[in-house]
Amino acid sequence: MKPVYFLSFLLPVALFIGCTSKNITDHPTESSFAFEFKVENYNQYYEVDPEGRLFKSSQEISITNVSDKHLGRINFSLHPKLIIDHITIRNLDGKETSIKQWDKIGVRKTSRIWADTSLNEFPVYQIQTSESFAPHQQLVFEIDYHLDVDFIRDYPEEMYELTFSPKASYAVGPFTGHNPYFGRNLIAPFTITIKHPKELYTCAPGNLITSKQENQFVIDIYECKYPNIPTFSCVKYKRISRQSDIFRLEYYLYPDQQVTEGMIDTTFRVIDLYSKTFGDNGTREYRFGTVGKAKSWNLGGENKGNAIFLTDFATRVYTNWLLNWSASLFTGGLSGKDINFLFFSHELYHNWNLFYVNWSGKLYEWFGEGGANFITAWAAERVIGIEVGAQIRKAFIKSFIENKGYEASQPLESVRKTVNAERALMYKYGAIVWEQLRRRIGDEAFFAGLRKFYRQKGFKQATYEDLLASFQARADIDVEKFLSQWTTENVKIKLNIGDVSIQKMKTGFRTTVEIEVDSEKDYDIVTAIGYKTSKKENLTILPINITQNGKSVHI
Ligand SMILES: [Zn+2]
Repeated sequence: MKPVYFLSFLLPVALFIGCTSKNITDHPTESSFAFEFKVENYNQYYEVDPEGRLFKSSQEISITNVSDKHLGRINFSLHPKLIIDHITIRNLDGKETSIKQWDKIGVRKTSRIWADTSLNEFPVYQIQTSESFAPHQQLVFEIDYHLDVDFIRDYPEEMYELTFSPKASYAVGPFTGHNPYFGRNLIAPFTITIKHPKELYTCAPGNLITSKQENQFVIDIYECKYPNIPTFSCVKYKRISRQSDIFRLEYYLYPDQQVTEGMIDTTFRVIDLYSKTFGDNGTREYRFGTVGKAKSWNLGGENKGNAIFLTDFATRVYTNWLLNWSASLFTGGLSGKDINFLFFSHELYHNWNLFYVNWSGKLYEWFGEGGANFITAWAAERVIGIEVGAQIRKAFIKSFIENKGYEASQPLESVRKTVNAERALMYKYGAIVWEQLRRRIGDEAFFAGLRKFYRQKGFKQATYEDLLASFQARADIDVEKFLSQWTTENVKIKLNIGDVSIQKMKTGFRTTVEIEVDSEKDYDIVTAIGYKTSKKENLTILPINITQNGKSVHI
């Protein structure tokens, strides 16, 4: 056989896929504030009328004292342009607790994603009450606020900013400040009611319970029974929906945004593939809501379960030749179509690995972001073709190297989303570690293990130990030991194809390929070489296992 094209799965390309997790990590400067309450449930009402220059909200939030002290105060922060009209604190039986006074006690600094300045400064308020609240005591925090009218814009801002404009209004990012932040996690089950002019559509996570017209307004009520962050958009959308036997897709698009039938068909195929492989996560309707600047140059997604908020870049890269061309250059060969695929399938997988199971403890980011990237490359193999899957993995490695992920401050097992190196480690290297495990134990054991894990842990808490046990039951290697070589320290390996020689034999050709591993120590590396003897042929894959540093020859 005379190989014409070589594609190695572990060779050094930048693909960015922004996606913030549902958890919030405290900013270091917040340590001076005592945040002692945890949210149990939200009931929020919004009135959104940008033409009428009105944005206001009334919220009832159940919170619990999670400190070990009796507290006569509640600290929280809010977006600086949201003006508080009223606050009431009640016991669970509805009895009001009188408020002695409330003050602004400081400023909470949070990172801004894609913004011109690096920090948002949110006021921290303290409410002092006449009664104190015992540890574990639950109470209801009621707040009414409205937006400073000077803050209403003509055009949408970046997707992560709190934005109100006649063209698009939304509050979708983790740091937009429309949810009072009590310092713990923002996630909790919720009900959101949105009253808006009838020309606008809303997009929010959960189930749309009712949508009723009342004069010139529509009132939509969404309910999310699992813990999630209450978020929504309200825009003059063009709405497109498609129904398969089981699933419904809803696209909430900017007026000149295009979604092709091919794109929709592929999305259905990915949802089918995930449902068959990882089980039924209960979701029947997936929504894609466009937010952010029109004709955005940023590709980003904010996953809120069955509502995925994203910029219009994700669809333009599919349909616009110039974007397609530059994205290909940037990623080392992925087409705009592939990038669109990668983006949607990454976000959809979070409905399994972030919302269907609730992972806690070590390797959180590896399971979440590394896992979602790995699955997209695998899904591309299955839905588009094997070469695209390999190209995506190449793009991951290119980006990992360009962002110096190997210099991340923590190894994979404890890394958090901070700067580029850490993000490259969890998203890109993390994906390759998953791929290593898949190749080492084989597809059958790997997917049986993953399926078992989801079956046992669906709608439950899960840890690394649970995942290991599911894989170990099927694998013939020590899974924990194999993975620990990649997760406990930062690995730097240079893997190259060296000499390739082709000899003519009596029948056909004999090809030898030299692979060179340059690393500080020996690793158990599982990779593959793909070849084909004509352009039209499918790739033939030869698995390769290398356990020693240096050159090795493969025939
Ligand atoms: Zn993600």
